[in-house]
Amino acid sequence: MSESEKRTEISDLGEFGLIDHLNEKVIIKNSSTLKGIGDDAAVIEAGDMVKVVTTDLLVEGVHFDLSYAPLPHLGFKAVAVNVSDVAAMNAIPKQITVSIALSNRFSVEAIDALYEGIHAACEHYGVDLIGGDTTASRSGLVISVTAIGEAKPEQISYRSGAKENDILCVTGDLGAALVGLQILEREKEVFLANPDMKPDLGKYTLVTARQLKPDARVDIIHELREMEVVPTSMMDISDGLASEIFHICKASGVGATIYEDKLPIDKQTFDTAVELNLDPITCVMNGGEDYELLFTIDQKDFEKLEKHPDIHFIGHITKSEEGKFLVTKSGTAVQIKAQGWKHF
Ligand code: ADP
Ligand code: MG
Repeated sequence: MSESEKRTEISDLGEFGLIDHLNEKVIIKNSSTLKGIGDDAAVIEAGDMVKVVTTDLLVEGVHFDLSYAPLPHLGFKAVAVNVSDVAAMNAIPKQITVSIALSNRFSVEAIDALYEGIHAACEHYGVDLIGGDTTASRSGLVISVTAIGEAKPEQISYRSGAKENDILCVTGDLGAALVGLQILEREKEVFLANPDMKPDLGKYTLVTARQLKPDARVDIIHELREMEVVPTSMMDISDGLASEIFHICKASGVGATIYEDKLPIDKQTFDTAVELNLDPITCVMNGGEDYELLFTIDQKDFEKLEKHPDIHFIGHITKSEEGKFLVTKSGTAVQIKAQGWKHF
């Protein structure tokens, strides 16, 4: 086969390999582009401030299933996942654009329901909807949101700033979105097998709500400002803790050690994972879509955050050659493995 006929499968590269591959050909021409591809959002100079810009695409059948995702929740989530990437730069979200591709399966009332959630999210996060695009689709619903945020240049937290001995922190609790998805999928199967069965999700409200309507942690960004703490590095947890630790370590050229007994998991997530025969710690390490924040702080800032009820100190940054390890409750150090791309 000649070179021109060579075919490389996307799955050979994986999501991150593909992005690296695309980035190889990118040449930054403008000095106002402070950060391009490679973080949660790009960073652009804007007078005394910087703007951050991020975009995410949600595709029906890949990222959401309308048989259990209510349209208002979906609209809210489409905004929240972008606002989360703005927060992950330690910036405050200000504006969004929303683009949709629709098939004729959708009515005006359905679009109104989607926008009900988009408007609720704009209200909740204090952002303005400033534009977008609308087009037809042959296969279901596609939603693309772009979010723009603002910060002072010295407030921006990149993935690349973690240093040895920094403390690794996570907000909230992890694993709930994955467990919630498993419950929704299970109930869908039950319903398809027997449409007379009404799913009873009452026991699972926390985990299903996390999956369907996650909340970006802009509250934490405001609190960090008040406490005058700038994380040395930060990103949001969209692909799972293990994967995000790999990103921070790679970008910062460091290693990390985290402790199983410090990992935050809600009781309902734990109990539901056990009910589903899933290992709760695997759900915490590899479950994505919780949209909590993972960040590192200098030890001098520990006292300021120590008492915060929703920030958990899960480990510390080490030298790169020390690797990435999870210390189990029994004291065994297990190498952390990053998970690949789920969608291909
Ligand atoms: P996140 O999970 O925080 O949304 P991604 O993993 O989607 O981040 O993206 C990582 C980086 O790669 C970001 O800087 C993003 O802008 C960039 N990126 C992703 N897809 C593309 C693409 N098709 N072309 C150019 N840049 C991309
Ligand atoms: Mg992100």
